[in-house]
Amino acid sequence: MPTSDKLNHDPSTAVPARDMTVDLVVVGSGTGMAAALAAHEAGLSALIVEKTGLVGGSTARSGGAFWIPASKLLAEEGMSDSKERAEAYVRAAVDGSSPEPRWQSFLRHGDEAIALLQRRTPLKFIWTRGYSDYHPDLPGGAAIGRTCEAKPFDANVLGSDRGMLRPSDLTPPLPMPTTSADYKWMNLVARVPAKGIPVILKRLALGVGGRLIGRDYVTAGQALAAGMYAGVRKAGIPVWTKTELVELIADGSDGEGRVIGVVLEQDGRRVTVTARRGVVLACGGFDHNMEWRRKFQSEALQPGWSVGSEGNFGDGIRVAQQLGADVTLMDQAWWFPEIAPVPGGAPPMLLADRSLPGSFIIDDSGARFVNESTDYMSFGQRVLERERAGDPVGSMWIIFDQMYRNSYVMGGVAYPRMPLPKAWYAAGIAHRATDPAALAKAIGVPARELADTLHRFNDMAAAGVDDDFNRGATAYDRYYGDPTMQPNPNLRPLVGPTLYAVKVVLGDLGTCGGLRADEAARVLREDGSPVEGLYAVGNTAGNAFGTTYPGAGATLAQGIVFSVIAAKHAAGRPVSSTVPNVTTA
Ligand SMILES: Cc1cc2nc3c(=O)[nH]c(=O)nc-3n(C[C@H](O)[C@H](O)[C@H](O)COP(=O)(O)OP(=O)(O)OC[C@H]3O[C@@H](n4cnc5c(N)ncnc54)[C@H](O)[C@@H]3O)c2cc1C
Repeated sequence: MPTSDKLNHDPSTAVPARDMTVDLVVVGSGTGMAAALAAHEAGLSALIVEKTGLVGGSTARSGGAFWIPASKLLAEEGMSDSKERAEAYVRAAVDGSSPEPRWQSFLRHGDEAIALLQRRTPLKFIWTRGYSDYHPDLPGGAAIGRTCEAKPFDANVLGSDRGMLRPSDLTPPLPMPTTSADYKWMNLVARVPAKGIPVILKRLALGVGGRLIGRDYVTAGQALAAGMYAGVRKAGIPVWTKTELVELIADGSDGEGRVIGVVLEQDGRRVTVTARRGVVLACGGFDHNMEWRRKFQSEALQPGWSVGSEGNFGDGIRVAQQLGADVTLMDQAWWFPEIAPVPGGAPPMLLADRSLPGSFIIDDSGARFVNESTDYMSFGQRVLERERAGDPVGSMWIIFDQMYRNSYVMGGVAYPRMPLPKAWYAAGIAHRATDPAALAKAIGVPARELADTLHRFNDMAAAGVDDDFNRGATAYDRYYGDPTMQPNPNLRPLVGPTLYAVKVVLGDLGTCGGLRADEAARVLREDGSPVEGLYAVGNTAGNAFGTTYPGAGATLAQGIVFSVIAAKHAAGRPVSSTVPNVTTA
């Protein structure tokens, strides 16, 4: 079993763990913080335990977008949605890959979860208008989007605990709190300066101006996690960092009855916490457990490709299995194409980059194999489908021209007109050539095939229609396109002699297969009976949307919503999976 030995377990800054009794133990300080807040509000005592020295997990590292359809928040922000449309969409997107009561329960409790965060944290939220659902053409799909995120948040409200917040790689180099709505236009600043420059100036003013008056504005997952952490502090909920769940305690003669507590380890010292109402496993997926990743997913995956938080090894799944818990969807992850990392470095992520015109992605035969602009999870599933069909894509390369390089930010690190990082060339991740044959030779693909692909792509791009993969056909594809490029914002022929290739790998935001849970977030055994007192939320549980990512923010949203559901159930309140027919706008 892979371990987390590399994690820093110096307990000097951690609250000392001790034997005690609480109502609800929450394991993991990402979306699980919402469970602790909901428990506190319901009058229960809660304890959060966190394996690493920092609070926030992947949640703090994330883009912070959350997808809760047909909410009152969306209605207040002017988005017209209805529970019926949301239900039709999720039913079509999930397509039977997750039990209906589970995703219905998510829809039913979305408003409650948002309201809890509004009451119990200082967070304020906005709708990311236009950030389309990932499958907008399905029944009930919303091209205008159902994604929301936190407004810039002053992390200094955390006071002396500011340094406990897990940082994010997405934080810009300058004090410039950037929302996901901003990212789209900042990325396009060289092409649409009338939109990009005001956004940059506004965010710089907030970031720099904030510093001048002692505020540290953060956005995205930093804001979401900081806001929830601020709520947790205000509620007086203890957070034990550097404290790892090692065992669940169950009653009954066979030790497989109701879960009544946990054994925790801090600095090699074990303590027992009795949990009167239950334990919520919110300890992430098995992102860095390479043994499981290769067993359940793909032999081709490599350490360092998952950008999930460092502590996520599947501990919660493992300890629950020891009590007979069942697992589901273990072959699934929130796949995310990335630029291959340089040795010892983190992989730069490819989000808008894949959608922008003047570029396409090839496999190691030199052919395109996917709609490059599709959502990242579908992209990954296509790669794995090929692998499972015995026809792996092998090395993947994004090919682009000088105009693309001059126009857009690449991997969040190479700004328009800047040369690509020297380290990429040195590591063989980037190549530049003045004709397709030389580029093909450099990256080891057949020259004839690359020339044919380029020729065919350019013909289709000139016509604005991708007959092979339909790139640019949906509102989601077009969201991250270049609106100055018509008729198809995702397509432009590659021009000029200079061509680039940058190596692409299949990374992920974390795994999303895990413990089989029901509509109340209760962990289930193989026979469908619940392990009483045990809940799984976020990436510790199997994705409530089955094999699908319905919209930007569907992972944080289900973590938060099922956290609230778990706390409510533990408090003995009714949990319903029936969606009332209410139109919100
Ligand atoms: C760069 C990036 C961008 C993303 N953007 C978005 C986005 O915009 N919208 C979206 O919906 N999703 C996004 N995601 C995905 C999303 O962040 C995760 O799916 C989500 O945060 C998972 O929440 P969680 O609570 O399950 O796990 P986490 O937030 O990772 O929290 C789990 C915590 O449990 C701790 N833990 C693990 N094992 C133990 C143990 N044995 N004992 C105690 N503690 C333990 C871990 O250290 C960790 O802190 C993004 C992810 C990344 C990395």
